[in-house]
Amino acid sequence: MSKVPEMFGSMVFGDSVMRECLPKDVYRALKHTMMEGTSLNPQIADVVANAMKDWAVEKGATHFTHWFQPLTGITAEKHDAFISPVNDGKIIMEFSGKELIKGEPDASSFPSGGLRATFEARGYTMWDPTSYAFIKDDTLCIPTAFCSYNGDILDKKTPLLRSMEAVSRQARRVLELFGKKVVRVTTTVGPEQEYFLISKEDYQKRPDLILTGRTLFGAKAPKGQELDDHYFGSIRPRVKRFMAELDEELWKLGIYSKTEHNEVAPGQHEMAPVFTTANLATDHNQLTMELMRRVADRHGLVCLLHEKPFEGVNGSGKHNNWSLSTDDGENLLEPGTTPMENAQFLLFLTAVIKAVDEYQDLLRISVASAGNDHRLGGNEAPPAIVSVYVGDELEAVIQSIIEGTDYKQGGKRSMDIGVTALPPIPQDTSDRNRTSPFAFTGNKFEFRMPGSSFNIACANIMINAAVADELMQFADELEQAVDFETTLNHLIRRELTAHSRILFNGNGYSDEWTIEAARRGLLNLPSTPEALLHYTDQKNADMFARQGIYSMQEIRSRQDIFMEEYAKTIHIEAMTSLDMLDRMIIPACIEYSSELARGVATKAQIGIEAKAEKAVVEQLTEKTAQLMTARDDLVEAVAREPGTLNERGIYQHEVVIPAMNRARAIADDLEHRVAKKYWPMPTYADLMFYV
Ligand code: ADP
Ligand code: MG
Repeated sequence: MSKVPEMFGSMVFGDSVMRECLPKDVYRALKHTMMEGTSLNPQIADVVANAMKDWAVEKGATHFTHWFQPLTGITAEKHDAFISPVNDGKIIMEFSGKELIKGEPDASSFPSGGLRATFEARGYTMWDPTSYAFIKDDTLCIPTAFCSYNGDILDKKTPLLRSMEAVSRQARRVLELFGKKVVRVTTTVGPEQEYFLISKEDYQKRPDLILTGRTLFGAKAPKGQELDDHYFGSIRPRVKRFMAELDEELWKLGIYSKTEHNEVAPGQHEMAPVFTTANLATDHNQLTMELMRRVADRHGLVCLLHEKPFEGVNGSGKHNNWSLSTDDGENLLEPGTTPMENAQFLLFLTAVIKAVDEYQDLLRISVASAGNDHRLGGNEAPPAIVSVYVGDELEAVIQSIIEGTDYKQGGKRSMDIGVTALPPIPQDTSDRNRTSPFAFTGNKFEFRMPGSSFNIACANIMINAAVADELMQFADELEQAVDFETTLNHLIRRELTAHSRILFNGNGYSDEWTIEAARRGLLNLPSTPEALLHYTDQKNADMFARQGIYSMQEIRSRQDIFMEEYAKTIHIEAMTSLDMLDRMIIPACIEYSSELARGVATKAQIGIEAKAEKAVVEQLTEKTAQLMTARDDLVEAVAREPGTLNERGIYQHEVVIPAMNRARAIADDLEHRVAKKYWPMPTYADLMFYV
């Protein structure tokens, strides 16, 4: 372990390496590009590329790739060798500035939602110099943005960078009103990652896990998570070895993996890194997911990142901790101690509250997928209704601002923003409301709705864009103010009053909240297709346009891509269900009941009435016939899928999923009745309680 500091970041072409191997002026030019987002001149790019290549080759790399994040949830890479032929059939290792800056992978196989006609298949990847290059599998990976020939964005990284830029721009304007000149405001993010580990041997026997990432069948195990004995419990040795190796791999890539522990469900774990800038956090989280899968494989395990691999126990999510910080390290969501710091904090807090209220739909959309639909509202994850938790102390402050009454605690006078200091806001982590989708946790917000397999760029694009838009309005108003403090007081009170409906400190899992939220007029979009339809609402398109993040065409294409992904996911699940029913479950039921029937007949021949066997055969035969009917219904449901995309999404949710569930309920019941040796796949107990 003493080697950790040397190991950390050893596979990253980071700041210290750059400083070491680049000429001073090149280093300075590159730093400037990274800080200011300016473009890099070609001569400098050549020098950087060459230094990168030398560094990578020395570390054993043979290939390079532009590593990017297309609109599918994964990351993409196309490997090119460094080799370049010279005379006599020899080669040299070469890598030019041009290759560093721009790549041209064929874009035709990545989803574009109509942004790129197939005949115009060219897509460009462009180096994102704000994220460091790294070596993975003997390949130098260059983090890049991906767009079409016409400049339409085809990835998740570009809009994320744009949203960070937007929020920085507006936050700087606001800070200037408080007398602070800063170069940049960065979005900081720390994503906590949940996952399951199961044994590879079991995994290979489950077509549902292989093809869909979740179990489509499986009766509840006699033991689940009811004893709460897994959370923070001692970690099995095999898993411990996995975690140790995972940490090592992550550290080499400069990823601040900090905390590893067991989660609530058996077989479930979590990794939390130390927060960093949003774009690095996104790259790191994508890498973390990839490495979790790979390292698991080396330990005879499979890492499941699906949001709901198992019915009846908790699914997996990703807590996206989010804040804003200046380049001098001031956290803008830190309440501070002086009245003026408090005023600034309250203004940023108000911007976030207003943003979440006005763009509830976008936050919901940023976490919408077939997998996550199983979690949201499932009494284990926040509901599909978006609300903000601020804790009792802040809630009291906000109420006193709204009502213009005295802030009672400690005999304080009324909250006069910019004059009165806030009471201390505890950063206590123990009794925070875990049921809230968007919770203030002392100096940051924790967005708890993202699913475990998500690219966190999606959520952070929405949060940044919406917050930037509110800050822009605030700055517009305050810059015109004759009396800053009075206008500030007025603005904060007005906006908190207008958006207080989004504040909710109670139990988000309760049915009462669903009713109360409806009364308050909050959106409740329980399914992905319902949520996605709001993507292109005019107010959303206007906001994205104002902040320079997406054009209407780009959001329309995203809506289509995600709707299609949803419809296809459910279709694949339905087809996999049918395959398992026809070739595994129904045959097993028939085989077992036939075996019993033969026993009944044989016993009858020698004059024994096999009462028990007969009863079981009758039940099995009856249940199997019911299963057959449910199976036929599912076949029919799949066959009737409508043509247009939006209809198909809704149909999958309303017709196909219920048909799958009906078949599953019967199959799961049969699992309890069929002898274990006949059951054709590992059960929940086998999957979750391995050693
Ligand atoms: P938990 O929510 O499980 O109690 P912690 O409170 O320890 O966990 O932190 C959760 C995550 O929040 C960590 O990844 C941490 O680095 C991150 N975090 C802390 N401060 C900030 C910040 N200012 N901005 C973004 N993320 C932060
Ligand atoms: Mg958390």
